[in-house]
Amino acid sequence: MKHTIGWTLVLALILAAAPADAAVRNVIVMISDGWGQSQLDATAYWHGERQPYESGAPWHRLGMTTYMRQEGWEHPPYGGNGFAGIHGYDPAQAWSDWEYQQNHVTDSAAAATAMSTGVKTYQGAIGYGVGDGTDGGRERLRHVSEAAESLGLATGVVTSVMLSHGTPAGFCAHNIQRENFAAIAREMIYDCGLEVVMGAGHPNYDRNGGWAPGDSTRAGYWAFVGGLETWLDLEAGTAGGETPWTLIDDLAGFKRLATGGDVPARVFGVAPVRHTLQWERDGLTTYNDPEPPYATPRIETVPTLALMTRGALKVLERDTDGFFLMVEGGAVDWAGHGRTLGRLIEEQDGFNAAFDAVVEWVEAESGWDETLVIVTGDHECGFLWGPGVDPGDAGTWFAPIVDNGRGRMPGFRFYSEPNGPDEDAGHSNEVIPFFCRGYGSERLLAAADETDPVMGPYLDNTELALAIFALYDELAGERREAESLQESGPQR
Ligand SMILES: [Zn+2]
Repeated sequence: MKHTIGWTLVLALILAAAPADAAVRNVIVMISDGWGQSQLDATAYWHGERQPYESGAPWHRLGMTTYMRQEGWEHPPYGGNGFAGIHGYDPAQAWSDWEYQQNHVTDSAAAATAMSTGVKTYQGAIGYGVGDGTDGGRERLRHVSEAAESLGLATGVVTSVMLSHGTPAGFCAHNIQRENFAAIAREMIYDCGLEVVMGAGHPNYDRNGGWAPGDSTRAGYWAFVGGLETWLDLEAGTAGGETPWTLIDDLAGFKRLATGGDVPARVFGVAPVRHTLQWERDGLTTYNDPEPPYATPRIETVPTLALMTRGALKVLERDTDGFFLMVEGGAVDWAGHGRTLGRLIEEQDGFNAAFDAVVEWVEAESGWDETLVIVTGDHECGFLWGPGVDPGDAGTWFAPIVDNGRGRMPGFRFYSEPNGPDEDAGHSNEVIPFFCRGYGSERLLAAADETDPVMGPYLDNTELALAIFALYDELAGERREAESLQESGPQR
């Protein structure tokens, strides 16, 4: 007995002497769906200032490539001419050919899967790789959130669009096609082991946050939350097995959670609005209209992405081992498709406020010596540049966004028109901005071993996942070491 106590003391001294940053505790990945450098510039010019992550040390800045694997069946801008394989990104062609970056782009599902599993995959894939190609056979992939779960960490996804949409799904679920919303939501609810799921997609509210009860005979109303039966289980508090989900679906509930009152073990948060927190509300303008942000009053009954993020952190911090969290500003992309820069700036503001909430949490409740924060996108959307580009005149290409001063709309134009000027814009294959800070950042910096003449050193989206997997391998190693010390101790 005396011997055991002595050993416990020795172990405690060893652990106390070990550096505090021996392994990662929390990983927070923030994704502005659809951002590129021009989207950041436009937001900065409107506000007259840059965001903290854009302002240099202690934040690291890199670029990231986003392209996917193509199988030959994709339509422009995702693919074309039957090309199959990985088209990739060539910095020399990117800046000597106006069309180059507008083709062979990724969609959000393939991009999220790449960032979450480390594998390039096909358009629409949720946690699946191309597989062997026989009978359309697909390969089930492992997410970083699954590695976190296997280590006993808490996990969560938060988004400003439907909770079962491409990006949140692409960080935890498995489905061969992103459009299978109900099945994807059910996997997130019953199988993924998540502690937090939050987003829009409420069956009983319209796009303006008005009460519009779902039609029980039409499956579409209930798809984003897993179907009518699953929704009724969520409302009854019975969905989710041993530790059922607590459903929060009103603003008061989100506010209560964010202030830390009565924090449940698992929270399924559905903002009371149809598809997006704010982007889809009335007052949308036409393509390339220079209407400023906030010209139409915001919906007052819907939580912000920042409020949801604060609540998510309250739930996840209950796990003393740490957590993995993905936060998506999902409608930046929708604003890019719709070529609505005013609304895009609004969505960037929402994302940036969520970023502020994350930083506040790290500094108050954790620390940069145990938490890694990554701030990036998944692909650019809209091919946004300054006005006046003539595709036939190389001297006008890649014109920068024009700074017209604080509170004035910058000079801009969305150039992506894959299906013509009267259709939505598409994604591009640009190298997008990537920022990181905290424990393990050096792994990401080391991965950025290629250089773009405009965007500087860059890594690939798959390397984001590989870095996080490496951090979790390291954490598993630390655990094994501590356990073997503990086990071998008393016997000596
Ligand atoms: Zn998109």
